[in-house]
Amino acid sequence: MQKTKIILDENEIPKKWYNILPDMPTPLSPPLHPVTMEPIGPEDLSPLFPMELIKQELSQERFIPIPDEVRDIYVTWRPSPVYRAHHLEKMLKTPAKIYYKYEGVSPAGSHKPNTAIAQAYYNMKEGIERLTTETGAGQWGSALALATNYFGLKCTVYMVKISFQQKPYRRSLMHLWGADVIPSPSNKTDSGKKILSGDPNSPGSLGIAISEAIEDAAKHDNAHYSLGSVLNHVMLHQTVIGQEAKEQLAKVDDYPDIIIASVGGGSNFSGISFPFLMDKLAGKKEVDLIAVEPTACPSLTRGEFRYDFGDSVGLTPLLKMYTMGHEYVPAAIHAGGLRYHGDSPIVSQLYDDKVIDAVAYDQTEVFEAGITFARTEGIVPAPESSHAIKCTIDKALLCKRTGEKKTILFNLSGHGHFDMSAYDSYFSGTMKDII
Ligand SMILES: *Cc1c(COP(=O)(O)O)cnc(C)c1O
Repeated sequence: MQKTKIILDENEIPKKWYNILPDMPTPLSPPLHPVTMEPIGPEDLSPLFPMELIKQELSQERFIPIPDEVRDIYVTWRPSPVYRAHHLEKMLKTPAKIYYKYEGVSPAGSHKPNTAIAQAYYNMKEGIERLTTETGAGQWGSALALATNYFGLKCTVYMVKISFQQKPYRRSLMHLWGADVIPSPSNKTDSGKKILSGDPNSPGSLGIAISEAIEDAAKHDNAHYSLGSVLNHVMLHQTVIGQEAKEQLAKVDDYPDIIIASVGGGSNFSGISFPFLMDKLAGKKEVDLIAVEPTACPSLTRGEFRYDFGDSVGLTPLLKMYTMGHEYVPAAIHAGGLRYHGDSPIVSQLYDDKVIDAVAYDQTEVFEAGITFARTEGIVPAPESSHAIKCTIDKALLCKRTGEKKTILFNLSGHGHFDMSAYDSYFSGTMKDII
């Protein structure tokens, strides 16, 4: 039998998160206050986030211990498996070795609970009773709904209205885990009312839902806000993925030449790649890192590197990032988790410094790759994850032409069991490429 799954023991769950900030070739530009345009301090963020997370956001410590209470929940699904994609390799007739880290084994079906659990924990420790957040397709909302249960917190999710109508099962999942789910724009907040007065039939957007969730948290002392990507502490929490993957590949005496992951706000890409990038930045290893985005929201490949708001209404601090502009509303592609106008400031700076690479693909070619994967490896990928699969297949076919035996590792960030209507649209021929 050929070795296929590389599994770690429960006690091999990482004990620390890796913080890339002290290793960045160019230090990050500070977030700016939206009104004064001065760099913000910890106190500016304290109405929204617990102090432990604010400290992590700015920390220059290379490793930050993972609290035992968080590891005790990670163990429900971590360490996640690494698979060798033998069937895909064989079908492609590539000399490349393809491995994937599978984050779809979490209860919510994606990598997002890795940070949701940590964020819920630190908020509980600070005595917070309720978390507010936004969600598009529902992956982040369901991850936070799951996480708040473990620590006795309430959860309010502002869900982009069009997704609220189109994705009833993600909504049900959030309800099942006890969250209050509100279609956004709503008339519960001034931000929502402002949008509705301009357009009563607004389908909503992630940027609008962020404005509503922030306003709700800022107006209630017992509530904080929680973000599922973009911020430094979220990149930090996701590094459990890459640390495990490094151990797993070491067990089969391998190390990747290429690492590939999809990019929405940048957290699953950071999670799998930063622990390897640490070796590269220290001059110990060579590895190519590729961030994959949709052509419908090409913030790295087509956006500008400048200060911009994180939300649509302009309530958040300004972040220096690759952005399409905060008022950009991406076309309604099925990979809802990649429809964010900006990108993580860390990922943006690394891209600007040419430490990492990026590529964009159209929706149809991404679904073709996802279906190829499902028909060879069996696992049905989330449309977001299929972006990484498309790039992996391209690289493996390039190896076939050049005869190179490269080792490719990609992050299968989630399963696609809640995305069957998207697959239906592909098979019925109604899916469009949106460029
Ligand atoms: C949210 C999501 C992504 C993209 O978000 P990042 O912040 O870039 O990680 C990718 N894949 C899945 C399955 C997701 O749910």
